[in-house]
Amino acid sequence: MLNRTDVFVIGGGPAGLALAIAARQRGLRVVVADGGRPPIDKTCGEGLMPDGLAALEQLGLQLPLAEAYPFRGIRFLSHTRSADALFPKGGRGLAVRRTVLHRVMWERAAQVGADLIWGTPVTGISVDGAYVGKNLLRTRWIVGADGSNSRVRRWAGLEACRRPRLRYAFRQHYRVTPWTDHMEVHWGERCQGYATGVSEDQVCIALASHDPNLRLEQGLQDLPWLRERIQEAEAVTAERGAITGNRRLKRVWRANVALIGDAAGTVDAITGEGIGLAFSQAVALAKCMESGDLIPYQAEHGRLMLRPLRMARLMLTLDGRPKLQDRTLRVFQKHPEVFRRLLALHVGALPPQRLVWDGLTLGWGLLTA
Ligand SMILES: Cc1cc2nc3c(=O)[nH]c(=O)nc-3n(C[C@H](O)[C@H](O)[C@H](O)COP(=O)(O)OP(=O)(O)OC[C@H]3O[C@@H](n4cnc5c(N)ncnc54)[C@H](O)[C@@H]3O)c2cc1C
Repeated sequence: MLNRTDVFVIGGGPAGLALAIAARQRGLRVVVADGGRPPIDKTCGEGLMPDGLAALEQLGLQLPLAEAYPFRGIRFLSHTRSADALFPKGGRGLAVRRTVLHRVMWERAAQVGADLIWGTPVTGISVDGAYVGKNLLRTRWIVGADGSNSRVRRWAGLEACRRPRLRYAFRQHYRVTPWTDHMEVHWGERCQGYATGVSEDQVCIALASHDPNLRLEQGLQDLPWLRERIQEAEAVTAERGAITGNRRLKRVWRANVALIGDAAGTVDAITGEGIGLAFSQAVALAKCMESGDLIPYQAEHGRLMLRPLRMARLMLTLDGRPKLQDRTLRVFQKHPEVFRRLLALHVGALPPQRLVWDGLTLGWGLLTA
């Protein structure tokens, strides 16, 4: 292992690997250390929105189509109704197993010359570098890409955040042919279920709620249509849980330490934006590190988080409100262009000012529905 580098990345998930690739693209020497070994799996809905895919391309990466599954839009379903919207300009998202995404990313990071050390938890940081066991690896920049429970965030004194709105999520994969080319959000009284086809014969089902004890099986009682789709299907992975929700940090860097991905704050799983966001943050952070100044990263990070945080808040007004869910879906059925524009806003294809206009149209529709 090297004993000196320009960038030491703690955590080799999507955020850490994206940063490694972006920093190598700018000629910086990079070491990534992760406590796990590849391919690393994770609780996730596994959908990449069109804007996330565009950010991935900036890293010179494309997902292998033979191992990914496309979706053309989003469908909302409640007990009584469904409404769907296509992505703007014939765009598409891609769903991919986390293990496949991880493999594609670490292969690319290795190919562009990043040093990757697996099975190696980082145990602390100092002004000069990071500790791997008792060894100090000297570095100019330290990047905390160690996920939502980030220890780097704590070590760097960057824990302060606005009041987080956290929820509990579980996911599992089922052997069944995807029944739709949309990513589905099923609205129940106590939870939402997300269904995403990830291959020709596998669908990823995730569930999010405010109840830490609401596992998939009980949650699906609340979502009969989704339960029906998978009740005969074999579960091919174990159920995994995670915390999700909106968490916005006051600061994402201090001195020579910067945070990225879930370590730097999270957006609720309902947005399907966490990974794409990490890709965009990686491009911004690598640029700042190359110029030797992290100050612009704070503003750029805030700008990138704003849209998904707002969209999460907007969508979660329906959480636990069956009557409002029904009315909203009725408005979307009657005025499909409102849903279409909200989706375009969600993926960054319309400016945020449009939220005001579409919010008013939606509000008026709800009052008169
Ligand atoms: C239910 C659910 C559904 C979701 N659905 C979607 C979706 O459809 N689309 C989407 O884009 N996003 C989705 N997300 C969000 C997405 O999963 C996260 O945003 C993404 O995993 C963040 O990546 P990361 O690299 O920041 O963190 P992680 O993937 O958590 O990676 C962190 C890495 O750091 C390593 N690590 C931790 N501590 C140390 C240490 N001390 N030393 C060394 N290594 C360490 C870990 O081993 C891990 O590999 C979802 C999240 C949830 C919970």
